[in-house]
Amino acid sequence: MTLPGSPFLAYRGNDLHLEGVSLKALAQTHGTPLYVYSRQAMLAALAPYQKALQGRPHLVCYAVKANSNLAVLQTFAEAGCGFDIVSGGELARVLAAGGDPAKVVFSGVGKTRAEMKQVLEAGVRCFNVESTAELEVLSQVASGLGRTAQVSLRVNPDVDAGTHPYISTGLKGNKFGVAHELALATYRRAASLPGIAVTGIDCHIGSQITEVSPYLDALDRVLDLVEAIEAAGVPIHHLDLGGGLGITYTDETPPGADVLIGQLLARIDARGHGHRELLFEPGRSLVGNAGVLLTEVMYLKPGEHKNFCVVDAAMNDLARPALYEAWMAIVNTQVREGDAPVWDVVGPVCESGDWLGRDRALAVQPGDVLAVLSAGAYGMTMASNYNTRGRAAELMVDGEQVWVVREREAVNDLFRLERRLPR
Ligand SMILES: *Cc1c(COP(=O)(O)O)cnc(C)c1O
Repeated sequence: MTLPGSPFLAYRGNDLHLEGVSLKALAQTHGTPLYVYSRQAMLAALAPYQKALQGRPHLVCYAVKANSNLAVLQTFAEAGCGFDIVSGGELARVLAAGGDPAKVVFSGVGKTRAEMKQVLEAGVRCFNVESTAELEVLSQVASGLGRTAQVSLRVNPDVDAGTHPYISTGLKGNKFGVAHELALATYRRAASLPGIAVTGIDCHIGSQITEVSPYLDALDRVLDLVEAIEAAGVPIHHLDLGGGLGITYTDETPPGADVLIGQLLARIDARGHGHRELLFEPGRSLVGNAGVLLTEVMYLKPGEHKNFCVVDAAMNDLARPALYEAWMAIVNTQVREGDAPVWDVVGPVCESGDWLGRDRALAVQPGDVLAVLSAGAYGMTMASNYNTRGRAAELMVDGEQVWVVREREAVNDLFRLERRLPR
């Protein structure tokens, strides 16, 4: 049986292993639902980025929102990465994990004054500013603190990344970035404001992108702007080309990061911009295929129209199927011979949108442990407590070693901050 995604995931005998560890055994020891991440898979996903950029000034800023567990951040910090953050909370995580604030870029359309202050005081590398209004506020906050904010403007290149509308961010109708036509004027404004130092340009056109061409289109648009902005007397030091590279959930064939970057570098060099520092902000492509969600089969409910396989993980644990109708592979951690009827794999939450997979042929019995594959990105970070369900535990494996990197949430944790009315 071939498994999409990770070479670190394979059956040994009857038992699905992530690196050297049996997933069924982990479920028995630690309970379900359970997220498990492979440290080697993360490092292997990072390697082509680093290799392709070797010998040039560059910084790979892991996008924290994809998977913000401290041990994941620590893994990337130790491998030399910077971080792309979208909140003050994510900065706190990066610092707690041992990340270097001088390698952090701060993105997002709705930065608060408090976050700007926190981030300036931590001494982060750069603000990716998304509007003129934000620029004015950042100037006030930075001047008030007697500091200078290094700034790149996130420009909206108006290219179609060819991905799901909810994760497409580089089109005119999206809320992100400064419109291409306004970019030059906004750079002029930025250069004139106190407390602001223009340092770069940034774009991020979407997520789960499986082709090189949208990146090349965006790059051309960005380089056109760089040339216009510098002609207007505002120097641009770095190019931040964002994240967004896709992974294999089923049969997608995204380019490798080395292939993507190779083509981008060729275009950058051909247009005479090879001296600039390059930043990338990959999230999904570094962690997506490195993680699985384990869930136990509770009940089999064959029916006239549909067969339901009721498992103990739900949309609160893994929102992607409910949110984007995302297709994620689901396999039994134990090989079973015999019939493989077609099931809808559903959770216990009271919503018909609470499914993990539809129409899946699975040989399965109650008590079996299923693995939802490619669950390392936008899995745990999007988890909620809906239905007063504690969030899953998280494990990291490395070879034969296993660490608990987040304990399972207890019910008491869930209403600890709530109060009854006085009576
Ligand atoms: C989400 C995000 C990323 C990471 O996107 P992936 O698709 O996970 O690589 C990078 N930059 C910004 C600004 C983002 O919002």
